[in-house]
Amino acid sequence: MGNYPVSVHDSYLINLASPKPDSADKSVKAFAEELRRTEKLGIEYLVTHPGSHLGSGKLEALERYVANLDQAIALSETEEVKVLIENTAGQGTNLGSRFGELATILEDSGYTSRMGVCFDTCHAFAAGYDLRSAESCAEVFERFDKLIGIDFIRFFISMTVNRSLVPIRIAMNISGRAVSDLMDSGISSMTNGLQPYLRLLKLRKKMILTLS
Ligand SMILES: [Zn+2]
Repeated sequence: MGNYPVSVHDSYLINLASPKPDSADKSVKAFAEELRRTEKLGIEYLVTHPGSHLGSGKLEALERYVANLDQAIALSETEEVKVLIENTAGQGTNLGSRFGELATILEDSGYTSRMGVCFDTCHAFAAGYDLRSAESCAEVFERFDKLIGIDFIRFFISMTVNRSLVPIRIAMNISGRAVSDLMDSGISSMTNGLQPYLRLLKLRKKMILTLS
Protein backbone atom coordinates (compact mmCIF):
# COMPACT_ATOMS: atom_id res chain seq x y z
CA MET A 1 0.00 0.00 0.00
CA GLY A 2 3.07 2.28 -0.19
CA ASN A 3 3.10 5.16 2.25
CA TYR A 4 -0.63 5.70 2.10
CA PRO A 5 -2.43 4.67 5.26
CA VAL A 6 -5.45 2.67 4.14
CA SER A 7 -8.49 1.68 6.14
CA VAL A 8 -11.68 -0.27 5.62
CA HIS A 9 -14.90 -0.04 7.60
CA ASP A 10 -16.57 -3.06 9.18
CA SER A 11 -20.19 -4.03 8.57
CA TYR A 12 -22.78 -1.85 10.25
CA LEU A 13 -24.67 -4.98 11.34
CA ILE A 14 -21.96 -5.94 13.82
CA ASN A 15 -22.81 -5.01 17.42
CA LEU A 16 -20.14 -6.16 19.85
CA ALA A 17 -21.97 -4.38 22.69
CA SER A 18 -25.25 -6.23 22.19
CA PRO A 19 -26.93 -7.47 25.39
CA LYS A 20 -28.39 -10.41 23.40
CA PRO A 21 -25.97 -13.33 23.70
CA ASP A 22 -26.73 -14.76 20.25
CA SER A 23 -26.23 -11.48 18.41
CA ALA A 24 -23.11 -10.69 20.47
CA ASP A 25 -21.73 -14.11 19.58
CA LYS A 26 -22.47 -13.63 15.86
CA SER A 27 -20.88 -10.20 16.05
CA VAL A 28 -17.67 -11.61 17.59
CA LYS A 29 -17.39 -14.15 14.76
CA ALA A 30 -18.22 -11.58 12.08
CA PHE A 31 -15.70 -9.07 13.47
CA ALA A 32 -13.00 -11.74 13.64
CA GLU A 33 -13.72 -12.48 9.98
CA GLU A 34 -13.46 -8.75 9.11
CA LEU A 35 -10.07 -8.66 10.85
CA ARG A 36 -8.83 -11.73 8.98
CA ARG A 37 -9.99 -10.34 5.65
CA THR A 38 -8.41 -6.94 6.32
CA GLU A 39 -5.09 -8.54 7.26
CA LYS A 40 -5.17 -10.82 4.23
CA LEU A 41 -5.62 -7.79 1.97
CA GLY A 42 -2.61 -6.12 3.59
CA ILE A 43 -4.73 -3.22 4.83
CA GLU A 44 -3.48 -1.58 7.99
CA TYR A 45 -6.66 -0.35 9.67
CA LEU A 46 -10.18 -1.59 10.32
CA VAL A 47 -12.55 1.22 11.36
CA THR A 48 -15.49 0.31 13.57
CA HIS A 49 -18.19 1.91 15.72
CA PRO A 50 -18.41 0.76 19.35
CA GLY A 51 -21.91 -0.71 18.99
CA SER A 52 -25.20 0.00 20.74
CA HIS A 53 -26.31 -0.84 24.25
CA LEU A 54 -29.96 -1.30 23.17
CA GLY A 55 -31.27 -0.04 26.50
CA SER A 56 -29.02 -2.20 28.67
CA GLY A 57 -27.03 0.76 30.06
CA LYS A 58 -23.79 2.35 28.92
CA LEU A 59 -21.33 1.13 31.54
CA GLU A 60 -22.30 -2.51 31.31
CA ALA A 61 -22.33 -2.31 27.50
CA LEU A 62 -18.86 -0.78 27.39
CA GLU A 63 -17.50 -3.65 29.48
CA ARG A 64 -19.21 -6.13 27.20
CA TYR A 65 -17.91 -4.29 24.14
CA VAL A 66 -14.28 -4.47 25.30
CA ALA A 67 -14.57 -8.15 26.27
CA ASN A 68 -16.13 -9.05 22.92
CA LEU A 69 -13.69 -6.93 20.94
CA ASP A 70 -10.73 -8.62 22.64
CA GLN A 71 -12.34 -12.02 22.07
CA ALA A 72 -12.78 -11.26 18.36
CA ILE A 73 -9.16 -10.11 18.01
CA ALA A 74 -7.95 -13.31 19.72
CA LEU A 75 -10.26 -15.48 17.61
CA SER A 76 -9.08 -13.85 14.38
CA GLU A 77 -5.48 -14.90 15.02
CA THR A 78 -4.38 -11.74 13.23
CA GLU A 79 -1.22 -9.91 14.21
CA GLU A 80 -0.88 -6.78 12.15
CA VAL A 81 -4.24 -5.19 11.48
CA LYS A 82 -5.14 -2.33 13.81
CA VAL A 83 -8.61 -1.47 15.05
CA LEU A 84 -9.69 2.17 14.85
CA ILE A 85 -12.64 3.05 17.07
CA GLU A 86 -14.69 5.79 15.42
CA ASN A 87 -16.33 8.43 17.60
CA THR A 88 -20.07 8.47 16.98
CA ALA A 89 -22.87 11.02 17.11
CA GLY A 90 -24.50 9.02 19.90
CA GLN A 91 -27.79 8.51 18.11
CA GLY A 92 -30.23 6.11 19.74
CA THR A 93 -28.29 3.84 22.08
CA ASN A 94 -24.98 4.12 20.20
CA LEU A 95 -21.86 4.05 22.34
CA GLY A 96 -18.75 6.09 21.61
CA SER A 97 -20.00 9.67 21.39
CA ARG A 98 -18.11 10.83 24.51
CA PHE A 99 -14.32 10.96 24.61
CA GLY A 100 -14.49 9.29 28.03
CA GLU A 101 -16.13 6.22 26.50
CA LEU A 102 -13.38 5.92 23.89
CA ALA A 103 -10.80 6.31 26.65
CA THR A 104 -12.40 3.46 28.62
CA ILE A 105 -12.31 1.18 25.58
CA LEU A 106 -8.67 1.93 24.80
CA GLU A 107 -7.64 1.57 28.44
CA ASP A 108 -9.50 -1.62 29.21
CA SER A 109 -8.66 -3.58 26.07
CA GLY A 110 -5.78 -6.01 26.20
CA TYR A 111 -4.85 -4.89 22.67
CA THR A 112 -4.34 -1.14 23.16
CA SER A 113 -1.13 -1.23 21.11
CA ARG A 114 -3.20 -2.41 18.15
CA MET A 115 -5.83 0.27 18.52
CA GLY A 116 -6.44 3.89 17.64
CA VAL A 117 -9.21 6.36 16.90
CA CYS A 118 -10.85 7.42 13.65
CA PHE A 119 -11.95 10.97 14.45
CA ASP A 120 -15.12 12.10 12.66
CA THR A 121 -15.67 15.84 13.11
CA CYS A 122 -19.31 15.68 12.03
CA HIS A 123 -20.09 13.00 14.62
CA ALA A 124 -18.17 14.95 17.28
CA PHE A 125 -20.08 18.13 16.44
CA ALA A 126 -23.41 16.30 16.59
CA ALA A 127 -22.37 14.86 19.96
CA GLY A 128 -21.87 18.37 21.33
CA TYR A 129 -18.17 19.09 20.74
CA ASP A 130 -18.01 22.57 19.25
CA LEU A 131 -15.70 22.65 16.24
CA ARG A 132 -16.90 25.89 14.69
CA SER A 133 -14.06 28.21 15.65
CA ALA A 134 -10.31 27.91 16.01
CA GLU A 135 -10.61 28.41 19.78
CA SER A 136 -13.32 25.82 20.29
CA CYS A 137 -11.44 23.31 18.08
CA ALA A 138 -8.34 23.81 20.21
CA GLU A 139 -10.38 23.21 23.37
CA VAL A 140 -11.94 20.04 21.97
CA PHE A 141 -8.60 18.57 20.91
CA GLU A 142 -6.93 19.52 24.16
CA ARG A 143 -9.72 17.69 25.97
CA PHE A 144 -9.26 14.70 23.68
CA ASP A 145 -5.54 14.80 24.34
CA LYS A 146 -6.04 14.83 28.10
CA LEU A 147 -8.50 11.95 28.10
CA ILE A 148 -7.13 9.76 25.32
CA GLY A 149 -3.95 11.16 23.80
CA ILE A 150 -3.86 12.93 20.45
CA ASP A 151 -1.49 10.33 19.00
CA PHE A 152 -4.27 7.76 19.08
CA ILE A 153 -5.93 9.61 16.19
CA ARG A 154 -4.88 7.74 13.06
CA PHE A 155 -7.65 8.73 10.69
CA PHE A 156 -9.56 11.92 10.43
CA ILE A 157 -12.90 12.48 8.69
CA SER A 158 -13.68 16.15 8.41
CA MET A 159 -16.94 17.44 7.12
CA THR A 160 -18.39 20.92 6.94
CA VAL A 161 -20.59 21.30 9.99
CA ASN A 162 -23.68 22.04 7.94
CA ARG A 163 -23.33 18.60 6.35
CA SER A 164 -24.11 20.02 2.94
CA LEU A 165 -20.97 18.88 1.17
CA VAL A 166 -18.96 15.79 0.57
CA PRO A 167 -16.56 14.97 3.42
CA ILE A 168 -12.85 15.57 3.32
CA ARG A 169 -11.05 12.44 4.36
CA ILE A 170 -7.65 12.75 5.87
CA ALA A 171 -5.48 9.88 6.83
CA MET A 172 -2.64 10.39 9.20
CA ASN A 173 0.22 7.99 9.56
CA ILE A 174 2.00 7.28 12.80
CA SER A 175 4.58 10.04 12.41
CA GLY A 176 1.75 12.52 11.95
CA ARG A 177 2.31 13.12 8.24
CA ALA A 178 -1.01 13.81 6.62
CA VAL A 179 -2.19 12.23 3.43
CA SER A 180 -5.31 14.03 2.41
CA ASP A 181 -7.85 12.94 -0.06
CA LEU A 182 -9.81 16.07 -0.78
CA MET A 183 -13.17 15.13 -2.14
CA ASP A 184 -14.64 18.58 -1.72
CA SER A 185 -15.19 20.90 -4.61
CA GLY A 186 -15.77 24.32 -3.03
CA ILE A 187 -12.90 26.32 -1.56
CA SER A 188 -15.04 27.74 1.25
CA SER A 189 -16.24 24.32 2.31
CA MET A 190 -12.66 23.07 2.29
CA THR A 191 -11.68 25.84 4.64
CA ASN A 192 -14.50 24.94 7.01
CA GLY A 193 -13.88 21.25 6.71
CA LEU A 194 -10.16 21.57 7.23
CA GLN A 195 -10.32 23.93 10.19
CA PRO A 196 -10.51 21.21 12.86
CA TYR A 197 -7.72 19.32 11.14
CA LEU A 198 -5.45 22.35 11.05
CA ARG A 199 -6.05 22.88 14.76
CA LEU A 200 -5.13 19.28 15.38
CA LEU A 201 -1.89 19.68 13.41
CA LYS A 202 -1.04 22.82 15.41
CA LEU A 203 -1.59 20.98 18.67
CA ARG A 204 0.60 18.11 17.53
CA LYS A 205 3.33 20.50 16.48
CA LYS A 206 3.19 22.15 19.90
CA MET A 207 3.47 18.75 21.54
CA ILE A 208 6.43 17.75 19.37
CA LEU A 209 8.19 21.04 20.16
CA THR A 210 7.52 20.53 23.86
CA LEU A 211 8.97 17.02 23.71
CA SER A 212 12.10 17.89 21.76
ZN1 LIG B 1 -18.11 4.87 10.61
